[in-house]
Amino acid sequence: GEIMRRKLAAGNWKMNGLKAALSELDGMEAAAQGASEVLICPPATLVAAAAQTAKGIAIGGQDCHANASGAHTGDISAPMLADAGATYVILGHSERRTDHDEHDEHVRAKCKSAWQAGLNVVLCVGESLAEREAQNTLDIIGGQLAGSVPDGATGHNLVIAYEPIWAIGTGKVPTTDQIGEVHDFMRARLEKRFGEGVGRSVRLLYGGSVKPGNATEIFAVSNVDGALVGGASLKAADFVPIIEALN
Ligand code: PGA
Repeated sequence: GEIMRRKLAAGNWKMNGLKAALSELDGMEAAAQGASEVLICPPATLVAAAAQTAKGIAIGGQDCHANASGAHTGDISAPMLADAGATYVILGHSERRTDHDEHDEHVRAKCKSAWQAGLNVVLCVGESLAEREAQNTLDIIGGQLAGSVPDGATGHNLVIAYEPIWAIGTGKVPTTDQIGEVHDFMRARLEKRFGEGVGRSVRLLYGGSVKPGNATEIFAVSNVDGALVGGASLKAADFVPIIEALN
């Protein structure tokens, strides 16, 4: 039979948000009662407070260490995020890959640790502009999927976010054909590796300059099961119309 994937509107607040920003969650609550799942990943300092106040909104971290505990000053582990009330963690975001020199093998180790702690993972992949112009996009995405996703994926513990680096925070968005090509490719790769049941149930998000004005068009693309939203997830006024476009 047909596999139902629950749509997911995920917000990545990045390094934005003081305590006062938690009031934005109140403004998102009504929209979060719809058919789609809503996830907000605030900075680590706000995870516990967000998990306490948010009703009907899942809370996630933006990264975790590969180890559960130990001598790693400044780092945060997956069990700590889970203990603070997070149910998700974003891993392998291109800003982590660039700013912290994270490679596929690091993302893979972090993902295993997150799963061990019971967290679901939003794992990010995406090509640079140079890679797209050299027509290497599918090779890059295929390599990142193979390298960063550990064995043991399920439709529950894994979400993949396709985020072309050149589309993040730039206002530039791929064409719907370009998004569809990558999402169909990722679906095929997941089915091949994990079998049809798992491969068809993993949700695939698009990320990169998603706004209220382009969300409907993007959500109509095949194998797009939602979005990972940066800038437009900070304010309820922007994120609510995106959630509603998905519902
Ligand atoms: P953006 O960021 O929506 O601000 O482009 C997306 C992301 O990096 O997850």
